[in-house]
Amino acid sequence: MDKRDILSLSLAELEEILVSSGEKKFRARQIYEWLHIKKVESFDEMTNISATLLTKLNEEFYINLLNISRKLESTVDNIVKYLYRLSDGNYIETVLMEYNHGMSICISTQVGCKMGCTFCASTIAGFVRNLEPSEMLQQIYSTEKDSGKKISNIVLMGIGEPLDNFDNVIKFLQILSSKEGSNMSLRHVTVSTCGLVPKIDKLSDLRLGLTLSVSLHASNNKTRSEIMPVNRTYNIEELIAACRRYIKKTGRRITFEYAVIDDVNSSNEEAFRLAELLRGLNCHVNLIPVNAIKERNYTSLIKNVHNFQNNLKNKGINATIRRTLGSDINAACGQLRRDEIK
Ligand code: SAH
Repeated sequence: MDKRDILSLSLAELEEILVSSGEKKFRARQIYEWLHIKKVESFDEMTNISATLLTKLNEEFYINLLNISRKLESTVDNIVKYLYRLSDGNYIETVLMEYNHGMSICISTQVGCKMGCTFCASTIAGFVRNLEPSEMLQQIYSTEKDSGKKISNIVLMGIGEPLDNFDNVIKFLQILSSKEGSNMSLRHVTVSTCGLVPKIDKLSDLRLGLTLSVSLHASNNKTRSEIMPVNRTYNIEELIAACRRYIKKTGRRITFEYAVIDDVNSSNEEAFRLAELLRGLNCHVNLIPVNAIKERNYTSLIKNVHNFQNNLKNKGINATIRRTLGSDINAACGQLRRDEIK
């Protein structure tokens, strides 16, 4: 029998499994606390569990752990980037960022990505597999342990498309926010998507109270389809309509991400069209100077980003320019993993 990934189980699932094998229900809660509050790395550390049950746990379950393969600390910002090795030998990236309001972590949701955005390093070598809930949780647990810092904000903006790994991401969020576990408020979680329309609707039905961030990056379909192939399936109009439904259903504001790329999506017309598109929508726009990746020669002159911001402002849309962080440590999505597998 294959051992089960115990960290990916909800408390209810763990209770059901233990009770059906003749254990008392409260044992599940004890074990769950060891895993998600004390964050132990082996069953043998669970000192209030009997030797017989420990033997059973060791036989039937495993605790999925990550290994730090590389760790890069930025000398220009308070950023630490981890390259984690998964139990099957794959690599993912996690970034720890210090802001005025606390520690924020950017986690991966897949090994590689299918979405094919031309500016993104995560997708170049294609898709390998989805991450398990345990592997998303462990990025947080392991990073907290290594850094000694308490994480207060979580963004799903690392490698992968979170809504393409929908069930595992939702399970991860449920475990993360469970009262008997880390009890993290989902108000402090941001899920970023390239625009999988049916999944945005599915997410809005769950009313999780998290922040949705939509990677728009162009305001006309021709350009967006060139740089984001997902647009050929769900175009801008369909995407914005889904965003409208999301806002209506959840009462939450959406963040739009727009990486300004010289000569691709930075013109005055693109800015005016964007303002038109977002008019009346409860949203915020983040402009990002595109992070240069080796495989493409995209650039982003800061004066073009400011010009784009001013154009939006003149049309009544406020936008902030996101700082590029960790430029000295390859912090753009997927660059470190890319180097490692090469
Ligand atoms: N797949 C999800 C989340 C991962 S990417 C999504 O598409 O939203 C996280 C964010 O980084 C997205 O907004 C993505 O478009 C952006 N991004 C990826 N590569 C980038 C680069 N080279 N420069 C600037 N932003 C980039």
